[in-house]
Amino acid sequence: MADTHSSLLARRDPAIFDLIRKEAHRQETTLELIASENHTSPAVMEAMGSCLTNKYAEGYPGARYYNGCEFHDQVETLAIERAKQMFGAKFANVQPHSGAQANAAVFMALMEPGSTFASLLLKDGGHLSHGMKINFSGRYYNPVHYPLHYAADHKEFEQIDYDAARAVCLEHKPKVIMCGYSAYPRTIKFDKFRALADEVGALLVADVAHIAGLIVGGAHPNAFPHAHVVTTTTHKTLRGPRGGLILTNDEELAKKIDKAVFPGMQGGPLMHVIAAKAVAFGECLNPDFRTYSAQVVCNAKALAAALVKRGYRITTGGTDNHLMLVDLRQRSDKLTGAEGSKWLETAGIICNMNGIPNDPRPPRVTSGIRLGTPALTTRGMKEAQMEQVADFFDRTMAAGLAGPDELAKVCKAVRGEIEALCGKFPMPH
Ligand SMILES: *Cc1c(COP(=O)(O)O)cnc(C)c1O
Repeated sequence: MADTHSSLLARRDPAIFDLIRKEAHRQETTLELIASENHTSPAVMEAMGSCLTNKYAEGYPGARYYNGCEFHDQVETLAIERAKQMFGAKFANVQPHSGAQANAAVFMALMEPGSTFASLLLKDGGHLSHGMKINFSGRYYNPVHYPLHYAADHKEFEQIDYDAARAVCLEHKPKVIMCGYSAYPRTIKFDKFRALADEVGALLVADVAHIAGLIVGGAHPNAFPHAHVVTTTTHKTLRGPRGGLILTNDEELAKKIDKAVFPGMQGGPLMHVIAAKAVAFGECLNPDFRTYSAQVVCNAKALAAALVKRGYRITTGGTDNHLMLVDLRQRSDKLTGAEGSKWLETAGIICNMNGIPNDPRPPRVTSGIRLGTPALTTRGMKEAQMEQVADFFDRTMAAGLAGPDELAKVCKAVRGEIEALCGKFPMPH
């Protein structure tokens, strides 16, 4: 299928064909350490590239505004049933085009414009859709933020300060409490957040975009039954197509959420993507996925330990999940996330700069780098390879500190070693 398609594309649009071919080669020959990315299976991509893209299916299974939806209904129903099974939830909406759209729909369902909600700031590991000023969430709603423990001698340094969160919620009486983050390496205590929500009369929304796959694979506690609503992306640890998903156990909320997604936020659903979600969910329900999720966490712990050994600080002192924030300052005060991540890209390690809690540097520079192991684990890498990755990482940083000539020489050498390593750990096939 892939071949027939590619050869057709090669003839019809050689420019795009060539760029896709180059991108495939880039993915195959580099180490993908962006914590929010993964490599989907060819089956997921085949569903995404199917004729389901041709059809309008506004509405929901059995209640569409267009005719001819017989098979689309069955596809969406399968996706919904699998989503419910994955999280042990009673209701699922598989139509959100992305994680941010899922959050927007949930906000619309649960709050009025101007309502107050509590969340973690972006700079502490939150997401832009959790109240950033220029995002819809900060513009049309009123976010208040709960903090981390910032005192270096605290045993939960840089972790969520649940007592302070309680104080913030008691003072501001939010309608919604958001938990779930983009750059938080520790287990989220959903039960504590639920107790707080009950105390202040708020609804608890768990945005598990990053850790959904770990939850489904049993490597992180489930947000249910604690959360009233769960939102997630489907393309991060869930290893599906780019998209969003909303779940709840509450029938009244489920009705409001369905209305908010369509016709509230979106028009026609991306049915080819929903088919691909169903395929990915099927893969997540396979027992292999538990092994995968456990290995993602083992690899993250191994990578964090290997970096500590080489002089880096990992925020919070380690990781419980698939990601870590590397504080570069401990290795050298001269290192920045912006420069370091560029050097790494040249060497074949793809990651992103990320602020660390209380980062003295601005967001376009940063003192940190965020690393995640979902994609490398998909390729079959284990603890031994994490040691190698840490070695590539540190040799590149050391070379960058030594100057441009050394950097060019070392990047070339490391890149060659990475290509050889990638050759032994092929993409999913
Ligand atoms: C990635 C992420 C999202 C948004 O996902 P998009 O699909 O990029 O819109 C939402 N919330 C959290 C916590 C995330 O990490």
